[in-house]
Amino acid sequence: MKSNIESFLDLVKERNGHEPEFLQAVEEVAETVIPYIIENDIYYGKNILLRMVEPERVVTFRVCWVDDKGEIRVNRGYRIQMNSAIGPYKGGLRFHPTVNMSILKFLAFEQVFKNSLTTLPMGGGKGGSDFDPKGKSDNEIMRFCHSFMSELFRHIGHNTDVPAGDIGVGAREIGFLFGMYKKISNGFTGVLTGKGMSWGGSLIRPEATGYGTVYFAEKMLETKEDSFKGKDVVISGSGNVAQYAAEKTIQLGGKVLTLSDSSGYIYDEDGIDTEKLAFVMELKNERRGRISEYLETYPNAKFVKGRTPWEVKCDIALPCATQNELNEDDANTLLSNGCICVSEGANMPSTKGAITAFHKAKILFAPGKASNAGGVATSGLEMTQNSLRFNWTREEVDLKLKEIMSNIHDSCTEYGKDENGYIDYVKGANIAGFVKVADAMLAQGIV
Ligand code: GLU
Repeated sequence: MKSNIESFLDLVKERNGHEPEFLQAVEEVAETVIPYIIENDIYYGKNILLRMVEPERVVTFRVCWVDDKGEIRVNRGYRIQMNSAIGPYKGGLRFHPTVNMSILKFLAFEQVFKNSLTTLPMGGGKGGSDFDPKGKSDNEIMRFCHSFMSELFRHIGHNTDVPAGDIGVGAREIGFLFGMYKKISNGFTGVLTGKGMSWGGSLIRPEATGYGTVYFAEKMLETKEDSFKGKDVVISGSGNVAQYAAEKTIQLGGKVLTLSDSSGYIYDEDGIDTEKLAFVMELKNERRGRISEYLETYPNAKFVKGRTPWEVKCDIALPCATQNELNEDDANTLLSNGCICVSEGANMPSTKGAITAFHKAKILFAPGKASNAGGVATSGLEMTQNSLRFNWTREEVDLKLKEIMSNIHDSCTEYGKDENGYIDYVKGANIAGFVKVADAMLAQGIV
């Protein structure tokens, strides 16, 4: 069996050797899915996984724009259309200086499995740019978004490919992108998700990724007859996902001890309560400030420069910042401090070594493609509402989100539970996500 996995990975490496993050994501899937393929005749010998690692289409394009000083700037734009077997390509756009082909291909590949797990009809894609929104004025952001969409528009559409937000792309950027799409396509369609409430957005979409991450952790804790009540919770990041993971944690009776950004983390041993969180939301979303500024208003907290928050003793850890932000040493520190549950709000935040450590210790560990699927699931609900030309209430969307997270938990259990009752959520999510896409690919033939 090992040689099957190894020879598959050798092939993938031959073609994509210079894409470490993509190879990391593929390896994690191959290790769990190939043994399943070997045991199940209908999938065996059809090179399905080999077809799934090759994007159906990759688009890269030039994005020129003029900054506030009148200087011409040039960035690179991308859209990876990974798999459309079960629905139109769907996935976010990331604007960050680290964006490259490897990062976007890993994200697009993960998205295929994640979207399949939601049970909604969405294929997988991802895109973005190496554009750095940090320090840019609203006008610069607008000019960049308009330029980006003036090329991207010809590759997307509400039945073809439906982008959304990711790191560096929030409500403001989606607004500018949508405005340009609508103008040049001369049509008001649900081509993007994460839209504003007055122009086709869905209630709960801003909250969905963070809430979903906590709902999933709640489901995992239930298997141990446990809950968030009275738990110390360490959260990384301070963007959209971290903010709403914190909000839901507080609502469920957990104590949020940390938040972070690329400069370091804040540690508030009294807990970040609702009022303090409202301050963080205003600081990050309106003033676009740094998390260290928290101390100017709450001087009892500490700012730990240049470090990640995994060294803080906690019961539950929610990595909500970015890929590979939690390594094997961090995992061992969390474990020795008594952490019992890790639910990923970001995409692939734990390294391979960290995941192995969590599995060895048999704690509750959820990979992002399962636990952060609430965001894209609610994007799917936004697409449905756009098609119906109708809006559901907050309660209706939240209930559907909770149901979807619970169903994903059930699917992971079905495919990931071993004979001793331990649930390997990585294995469960990979196989459950694979089966639906593979069945559709088989039915549609070699295309
Ligand atoms: N970027 C988010 C993710 O990683 C959301 C994608 C979407 O809503 O399409 O799943």
